[in-house]
Amino acid sequence: MSKKPGLTVLAGPTAVGKGTVSTYIRDHYPEVWLSVSATTRPPRPGEIDGVHYYFKSKEEFDALVAAGELLEWAVVHGQNTYGTLKSTVDAAIAEGRSVLLEIDLQGARQVKKAVPDAQFVFLAPPSWEELVRRLVGRGTESAEEQQRRLETGKVELAAEPEFDHTVINDDVRRAADELVSLMGLTPRPH
Ligand code: 5GP
Repeated sequence: MSKKPGLTVLAGPTAVGKGTVSTYIRDHYPEVWLSVSATTRPPRPGEIDGVHYYFKSKEEFDALVAAGELLEWAVVHGQNTYGTLKSTVDAAIAEGRSVLLEIDLQGARQVKKAVPDAQFVFLAPPSWEELVRRLVGRGTESAEEQQRRLETGKVELAAEPEFDHTVINDDVRRAADELVSLMGLTPRPH
């Protein structure tokens, strides 16, 4: 029996395509309230403050942590810090919206402690070989960084049993539709 909560957390290994699936949902399912995280990462070309992330300095981020304003936060890939703003998520849930967090595994574990009745969805690659192909094919990381992320990926894949559901990202649209179904929404005919 699937949970039909206000809050769904999507996590999964590096390079599995969480960002692509959540972008698809942002573009095609406006009824889903997709949380906008705070991050110390600098914006990439085309990214808009307040739409893709709230871009913060390290000092601003530390102040959010100190003020207890984050539902969860984590350093991702040992580089930048990312976190979910508690007040915006609480407000969306209070409004009865279907809320989606797309966060890393460490963050998902923190949310599980804070909100145990949320729904936790693991986005998995069709196979380990496909995950390697996506990570290497992306071409944005050095060979050394790729190796490091693959090691992390192995550990991350082992976390699947901690989740309520697994969605396989074999096709972005199909995976997004399955995810919105799990959120209790009706997928659009395409
Ligand atoms: P990117 O820098 O490519 O946008 O995201 C890098 C990673 O940060 C992704 O794995 C994404 O899931 C994770 N991430 C984004 N926002 C948050 C957040 O608010 N909390 C946590 N824990 N991870 C996040």
